Amino acid sequence: MALIQCTACDHRISDKAVACPSCGHPSGHDRQGALRVLGSVAGTYISSTTLASLALGVTMFVCTAAVLITLILHS
Ligand SMILES: [Zn+2]
Repeated sequence: MALIQCTACDHRISDKAVACPSCGHPSGHDRQGALRVLGSVAGTYISSTTLASLALGVTMFVCTAAVLITLILHS
């Protein structure tokens, strides 16, 4: 395993890496595989952000509901 320099940000990355972990620029040693892996990485990223916003939404809803219930019970 050798280290090569990212063409986009000069970050040192593995020649086995399909994309720079710093900026996400594809290293280009295996275009087809890189695109496939990038697609799955993008899919994971999208689903993880969706999950995060969903969790945040649920947390906000529970907090709002708790505040409302407290206000109603104390009025
Ligand atoms: Zn980079």
